[in-house]
Amino acid sequence: MPHERWKSTVHLTGPGYWVWLIPLESGVTSVGIVMDDTVYNSANIHDPQSAVRWLEQNQPRCADAIAGATFLDFVRLPNYAFDCKKVLSADRWAISGEAGFFADPFYSPGSDFIAIANGFITSLMADDRMGKDIQLNAAVYEKIFRSIYQNTLSLYVDQYGGFGDRLMMGLKTLWDIAYYWGVLSLLYFRDALCDYQKMRPLINDLLATQELNQQIQALFRERAKQRLVLPARGVFLDQYKVPCLKYFNDVLQNPLDADVQTDLQRNMEILRCVAGGVTELLQGVSLQDMAPAAREWIGDNYCYGLLA
Ligand SMILES: Cc1cc2nc3c(=O)[nH]c(=O)nc-3n(C[C@H](O)[C@H](O)[C@H](O)COP(=O)(O)OP(=O)(O)OC[C@H]3O[C@@H](n4cnc5c(N)ncnc54)[C@H](O)[C@@H]3O)c2cc1C
Repeated sequence: MPHERWKSTVHLTGPGYWVWLIPLESGVTSVGIVMDDTVYNSANIHDPQSAVRWLEQNQPRCADAIAGATFLDFVRLPNYAFDCKKVLSADRWAISGEAGFFADPFYSPGSDFIAIANGFITSLMADDRMGKDIQLNAAVYEKIFRSIYQNTLSLYVDQYGGFGDRLMMGLKTLWDIAYYWGVLSLLYFRDALCDYQKMRPLINDLLATQELNQQIQALFRERAKQRLVLPARGVFLDQYKVPCLKYFNDVLQNPLDADVQTDLQRNMEILRCVAGGVTELLQGVSLQDMAPAAREWIGDNYCYGLLA
């Protein structure tokens, strides 16, 4: 629905920062500027006027669009990521939502974290109600949950420097979404994530896929250090036309009782091809010289869009 596009969250990205535009139901628009320390330390934003001045210099079209608007509220929130010691206790208490931890608003994973936490909590409550000892499961779920949180944090830490670099951002959004749909969403959609018995046989596969993710995130961090300014060229990259994303999304529609390990392992094979392609493109390999399997799963449309 192209004419409804404005209703989604719009992200304007630049080196070391991004700006959100979120039209709220009440008719008010939320505008947020999220920065890494390098930009924050030089931006000198302390009130609505200085925020607008910063936008005029860095995102002039956004500044034009909100010129003359009435500010209803202004908040500054340094060091917004936080953690806490424990969220799932065998002593029959638990924390869900942002009272526990928060990583970063870029991909807006808040409801995912709430849903996952609630899944773990429900599973523990059900076991407790059946009179089972929940010590082990509480510890295991805490560990899984923390590893999801750490994995999520790794998508952002030291990566904001690359947010003005269209090649990095094109590849980053491709990889992060592929990994999210191919691994975490698969586990969630199959009711495996919050079920210790279903997770146990998958642990080795998951460790391998996590390692692959960390390798790719390290490449993004390396690239982000350059703080390149390669503005987008206005090419629309339709996720549905990216073969790996379409495939991962189709797999999510499989029935609940389809074998999750088989699907996970197939997804991992594809993710390895995509990882190879992402690595090659970051290294400047041309489309013609790219490994055919990577090209097959990333798709020529996407590659041409990035390299345009
Ligand atoms: C700009 C932005 C965009 C986002 N977009 C998305 C998105 O697209 N998708 C998504 O899933 N998530 C998104 N999130 C994250 C999502 O909003 C949060 O994850 C979610 O609201 C957290 O819910 P919560 O109930 O844990 O905390 P909150 O929503 O913060 O609720 C806590 C409530 O507790 C109240 N409270 C606090 N202290 C006290 C007290 N002492 N006594 C009584 N009440 C108290 C607060 O007033 C508040 O109402 C976004 C966040 C931001 C900032």
